[in-house]
Amino acid sequence: MLRPCHNCLEGSTRLIIKHVRPDGRAKQVGIDVDACIAPIVKALNEGGIYTMASCCGHGKMPGSIILADGREIIIVKNRDERELVFSACKKEPE
Ligand SMILES: [Zn+2]
Ligand SMILES: [Zn+2]
Repeated sequence: MLRPCHNCLEGSTRLIIKHVRPDGRAKQVGIDVDACIAPIVKALNEGGIYTMASCCGHGKMPGSIILADGREIIIVKNRDERELVFSACKKEPE
């Protein structure tokens, strides 16, 4: 479920969006989303891409938005953080 998260430094924003439940059915609900990523979650929803959970990472880690199909969108704050995240994927196999 789209779990509420109340630790964003910018607070939370209430969105009325479609939320996909474990049985696969989408239901319109009001949910509190981390304010700094709320516009992204809203835009995805308006484009028909529904989400199950999201968190901005609160400045401590990359943010993520879990999509209804299980994939995740990782949100990094800049190029440096992207390099840090991607460096883990670039490791040569041993
Ligand atoms: Zn935030
Ligand atoms: Zn959060």
